[in-house]
Amino acid sequence: MAMNRCEPCGKFVSFEAVEPDDQGTEISVAGAYGSDGESFNDIQVTGTVRVVLQCADCGQDLAETEIEFDFESTFNHEAGCEIDPESSDDVTSEEVEYEFAEGSEGKGRRPKRFYGAGASVNVTCGLCEASNTFTDEQLTQASHFEPSQ
Ligand SMILES: [Zn+2]
Ligand SMILES: [Zn+2]
Repeated sequence: MAMNRCEPCGKFVSFEAVEPDDQGTEISVAGAYGSDGESFNDIQVTGTVRVVLQCADCGQDLAETEIEFDFESTFNHEAGCEIDPESSDDVTSEEVEYEFAEGSEGKGRRPKRFYGAGASVNVTCGLCEASNTFTDEQLTQASHFEPSQ
């Protein structure tokens, strides 16, 4: 697979990462629960981003893929937070931020290359002022990317 061959440059080139393009992200906050004066909310993040790999020399789009995120985590309030268990109105999230991520697997001359995105979102409670950051990373093997048109 000659995905990293750039036609305008007429040669094999290395990839340059582009900021992932957010195709739609949703954050849901479930009502609080807890015991012993400690409350929790479940936070679920679902989203899709488009990751593009460009020619490092001329910027031509060479390959791309869509990456799905679906992760869930628990928001921890400060002890004694008096959040209404029926409501999640006091728990607010910032926008999910995505950034390019990469990795490799295996040693030697031809390690498998993976590209994708990391997601990060800050969530805060307006009552107890607790702040939690949730992160996730999704990588796709380079050979599973589609050649760009
Ligand atoms: Zn090029
Ligand atoms: Zn709280």
